[in-house]
Amino acid sequence: MKNFKRGIFICLMIFLFLPIQGEKNEERIKGFTSEGSREERQIEAALKKLADPKVYERHLRFLTEEPHIAGSKRNYDLALYVRDKFKEFGLEQVELVEYQVPLSFPKEIIVEMVEPFVFKATLREEGYAVDKDSFDSQVSIGFNAYSISGEVTAPVVYAHGGNPEDYDRLLEMGIDIKGKIALVRYSEPYSYRGFKAMTAQQRGAAGLLIYSDPRDDGYMRGDVFPDGPWGPESHIQRGGIPFDFIFPGDPLTPGWASIPGAKRLKPEESETLPKIMSVPLSHKEARPLLENLAGPAVPPQWQGGLPFTYHVGPGPAKVHLKLDMDNSIGSIWNVVGMIRGREEPEKWVVNGNHRDAWVYGAVDPSSGTAALLGLAQNLGQLVKDGYRPKRSIVFCNWDAEENTLTGSTEWAEHYADKLKKDGVAYINVDSAASGPFFGAAAVPSLGDFMLQITREVLDPYTGKTIYEVMEQLRRGRKQKEETGLIETRVGSGSDHTAFMNFVCMPVIGMGFDGPYGVYHSQYDDFYWMSHFGDPQFCYHATMATLWGMTALRLANAQIYPFDYEAYAREIGSYVKEILSQGGKPVSPDLDLLVGRIESFQKTARELNTRIERLLVQGNTISSGILQAVNGALMQIERDFGFPGGIPKRPWYKHLIYACKFTYHPEVLPGVTEAVEEKDWTRAKEQISLLDKAVGRAERTLQEVLTKVPENQSGE
Ligand SMILES: [Zn+2]
Repeated sequence: MKNFKRGIFICLMIFLFLPIQGEKNEERIKGFTSEGSREERQIEAALKKLADPKVYERHLRFLTEEPHIAGSKRNYDLALYVRDKFKEFGLEQVELVEYQVPLSFPKEIIVEMVEPFVFKATLREEGYAVDKDSFDSQVSIGFNAYSISGEVTAPVVYAHGGNPEDYDRLLEMGIDIKGKIALVRYSEPYSYRGFKAMTAQQRGAAGLLIYSDPRDDGYMRGDVFPDGPWGPESHIQRGGIPFDFIFPGDPLTPGWASIPGAKRLKPEESETLPKIMSVPLSHKEARPLLENLAGPAVPPQWQGGLPFTYHVGPGPAKVHLKLDMDNSIGSIWNVVGMIRGREEPEKWVVNGNHRDAWVYGAVDPSSGTAALLGLAQNLGQLVKDGYRPKRSIVFCNWDAEENTLTGSTEWAEHYADKLKKDGVAYINVDSAASGPFFGAAAVPSLGDFMLQITREVLDPYTGKTIYEVMEQLRRGRKQKEETGLIETRVGSGSDHTAFMNFVCMPVIGMGFDGPYGVYHSQYDDFYWMSHFGDPQFCYHATMATLWGMTALRLANAQIYPFDYEAYAREIGSYVKEILSQGGKPVSPDLDLLVGRIESFQKTARELNTRIERLLVQGNTISSGILQAVNGALMQIERDFGFPGGIPKRPWYKHLIYACKFTYHPEVLPGVTEAVEEKDWTRAKEQISLLDKAVGRAERTLQEVLTKVPENQSGE
């Protein structure tokens, strides 16, 4: 799973080839002294030399040889493969970590139109002669994980994206979804399928069918597989529908790890397990249903890409839906290993990617798994050559991400105390490469840190830096500079969630994007990758280099490169957004909060200035000062957490970021939701909590300020 933004790709390609002057960057690395920067760049030069695209092609071929869904024998075998590779590459403390969690497989699914004529969906995708993998009998039928079992026959209603406003619109047209089967589109507008399931359930639908419209990821976007990267008519987007925006991970163990013998909720007590039947469809098999809907024609924006006017129904299409799901408990395996740090081995820079795939998962997640293996191999090679980072670098290969972000969440819950104390940052790579366009999201303290790295890595095709390519694309889009090249609003949809929202660690996520219409279908396979996504495997290799530099810089920095002045600026802008978007009734409280944030920003600016002086001053920084400053810098993200979490979602501890139910990022979630619901008492409480959190953060910085000399004559 991956919370992706689809851009306008093809037409932007031309901007990549406009001339721009290449630059050689000799500035000090954020968080390093000049001497430290020189040493760091030396080791990074050695790392860059290890980039060999052929390695990634071999890994990807092996990883995508067979379907490997969580809980399958093949995915366990791949865990052993990753474990053995980690050992071969020289990682230490390599182990499999098992958790026992509810998995989800279809035993039988029937989607059958019984009126006005009989049509039975196969729920299968067609084979193409050029691609052997498209014929494999092991490929599962299309299904939505954690759908309930049941049986119903009911008329169909087309409900656009299946979001609340769509059902409201239907009501205005006189159509109530209650007791009917909702047929909805996957990605127009994009929202997480679990939210579609929750909405259909709340509105009383008898069942949910989610299909991929050709307008969204098929022939209306471009050539389809096997001639192009977009989804062919029979492609099916599988995917989980649990409500993991309430809490991710095992639906039966919110906030604690599913180690063997752990206490569990009963399934009916879980807030995240759906109570509705749901099945995904291709547009080939949704078409007969859509073609047999009468009633009013759809509003213009609801019209999809099939060649007839869509109607909302209900009926005459009537569907018999029957599901027999196996949602019982089974084992999953994370693979964890590390390179122990030479000076502060207890401090962990954690890196993760998931291994489980709905089918072959060439992009999602195997491109990321190949990049993780490359990262381990490259950093392992540096260790074999006699090098060792200052802090420990931890490598994690998660299981069951596609289910409920399960493996990473259980591990983060399992090691929460250790991570709260010693987790420097978490770096996530889910899908590493589906095209040439770099994208990254990070907490605001790490935005400029990431940008600096992109200025020092070359795009493999154009010879420009990754940064220059991003800049040209931004100018092509006429996007304002302020929106930033690194996304600093962090939502959910991948394995960074538990680290950000439960542990309150700084997080980074990154990947290369491109036209990609086969997400979660059987066509996300080796053929697709080697023809469309990254045929030369250069972006896989580039991702491993970017990832390696990111991990090494965090592991080696003299002073953590966390910029809290930038963070404060972001928080301040979020408060102003709330003020302008309905927050007027609590404006006195918000004004006070703005004042608090400005004060925090001022303190952070002062600390930044003093840190810069220390770093310019170089090797004479005392270890006592380094320890105090680094301790404080690590504490701030924790200060933004609140043990009681946000209202109605106590698992989500972070007060600055959470995800909306759609998975989109939500900033200042406690305040934002209270304002949206016009609950002014709660809004004031939430503003006060936020005020305290920012106050805590400021005190942390003030305390350390007293220990850092104001001028260069320090120690
Ligand atoms: Zn994924």
